[in-house]
Amino acid sequence: MAGSQLVDQLPIGVLALQGDFREHLAVLELLGETAIAVKTPQQLEHIAGLIIPGGESSVIDKLSRLYGLYDPLREAIAGGLPVYGTCAGLIMLADTVLDSIDGQRSFGGLDVVVRRNAFGSQTDSFETDIRVPELGDVPVHAIFIRAPVVESVGAKARAIATLDDGRIVAVEQGNVLGTSFHPEITGDTRFHEYFISRVRASG
Ligand code: GLN
Repeated sequence: MAGSQLVDQLPIGVLALQGDFREHLAVLELLGETAIAVKTPQQLEHIAGLIIPGGESSVIDKLSRLYGLYDPLREAIAGGLPVYGTCAGLIMLADTVLDSIDGQRSFGGLDVVVRRNAFGSQTDSFETDIRVPELGDVPVHAIFIRAPVVESVGAKARAIATLDDGRIVAVEQGNVLGTSFHPEITGDTRFHEYFISRVRASG
C-alpha cells in the first residue's frame, strides 16, 4: 500500500522484558506487520508504535529500570509514541496503580486509576464476551488472567469497554490504548488491527 513510506516501513515493537510478548509478535506478523522484540532504549528510536504485553507488572517495571528503558519509554509515551498495553501492560500505562508492591512504578500515559489483581483469588481467571462499539457489532471474547480493572477514568481518558456490571476494562487516551484482557490469545485480531490503524494514522 502506498502511504507515507518512512513511517510505514518502521516496525511495531513489543516490549520483550517479560510476559507473553511472543504472542503479540505473532499476531502482528499474522497481520502483515514487521514486528520487533524491544529490549533496549536504542530500539525505541526505530519503531512506529509499541505493545506492552501481559505478564507481571512489578517485574516489567524492575526489568525496565535494569535495562535502562524506564525513563526513555516514559518520555516516548509522553511524547506521543502510540502504545497498547494488555493486562500488566495496561497497569504499566496507568497514571495511578492501586495494590502495587512497594516501590512499583508505571510508565503512565493513561489518566486512569487501575487496581491490580482486581478480581481476587476466587476468580483468578475468566472469559466473557464484551461489547466494544469501536470494533463493530460482533462482541469481543475477552480472557482475563489475574486481571486489573480500571477503577476510575480521569478527564483525559475514555472508557471503550465495560463488563455487564459496569466495570471498565478497556480505555484509550490520544496515543495510548489499554485493555484488562488478552486479545493476543483469542485469535480475534480486531484490537491489534485497531491499534495498527492508530499507529499508521499517527505517522
Ligand atoms: N496480575 C498481573 C500484574 O499485576 C497482571 C496479569 C496479566 O498480565 N495477565 O501485573
